[in-house]
Amino acid sequence: MFDVDASRDTVMGIGVGVPGPTNTDTGIVFSCANIPGFEQFPLQKRLEEETKMIVRVGNDVNCGTMGEAWLGAGIGYKNILGIMLGTGIGGGIIIDGKLVSGANGAAAEVGHMKIKSSGELYGKLCGCGQYGCWEAYCSSLALEREARMRMEVNNNTMLWEVCGGDATQVTAKAVFECAKQGDKFCLLLVDYELNYLAKGIANIANILNPEIIIIGGGLSLAGDILFDGLRDRMYKYTMAAIYENLKIIPSKLGNESGIVGACALLKLHNA
Ligand SMILES: [Zn+2]
Repeated sequence: MFDVDASRDTVMGIGVGVPGPTNTDTGIVFSCANIPGFEQFPLQKRLEEETKMIVRVGNDVNCGTMGEAWLGAGIGYKNILGIMLGTGIGGGIIIDGKLVSGANGAAAEVGHMKIKSSGELYGKLCGCGQYGCWEAYCSSLALEREARMRMEVNNNTMLWEVCGGDATQVTAKAVFECAKQGDKFCLLLVDYELNYLAKGIANIANILNPEIIIIGGGLSLAGDILFDGLRDRMYKYTMAAIYENLKIIPSKLGNESGIVGACALLKLHNA
């Protein structure tokens, strides 16, 4: 899709999606967990100096949401919530057609919204070092962690067979596949996943009142079992005025949404 034969003269500029909080207005990366040295890094300015081209930068999930808004599932909508369900949970917020980037580019870091504390002293530990974060309950990594924990005390599931008797090989995809085949153990895991997912998405929807929620990332490929399950549960946690006409649909651009969105940043710059 993106194989292009272009010369420098025909290239409009460079758009970059960064896996960390990134301010689209200032072009500064606040931090980047997987790339050391990117703390308060003026990426836009540095790339412009190096390439002498127009450069726009943004958080990768924010870019993904921009991409869906421009050429994907969000065409025609102005108030969009993007949710990326992968090893963590990322978010992107578009209000009145404008991306919400935040003071340090960390707006829509929804995965670290605190979802649990009562009943447990702190809630589950998250990769960010804090406790009770949403993504510690229902990212793909969290679902796999929960599955492994339950497998330690329960042998009665197809999962053992699927992962070759090695619980460390369990994947979120396998949990959904076994649930679709009626495995009770996995159906309960999916129910656990969907309840936390619905609660978290509803919390954000209750604040933003989006027209559409676009869900991408590996877990979104689970299909109807995920989307129907979410819709069935969301009403429990959203106000009636929020749930009315709310659309919850899968990403259309998949992994390419971020690339398209980085281009959208450039397009907006030139508009
Ligand atoms: Zn966290």
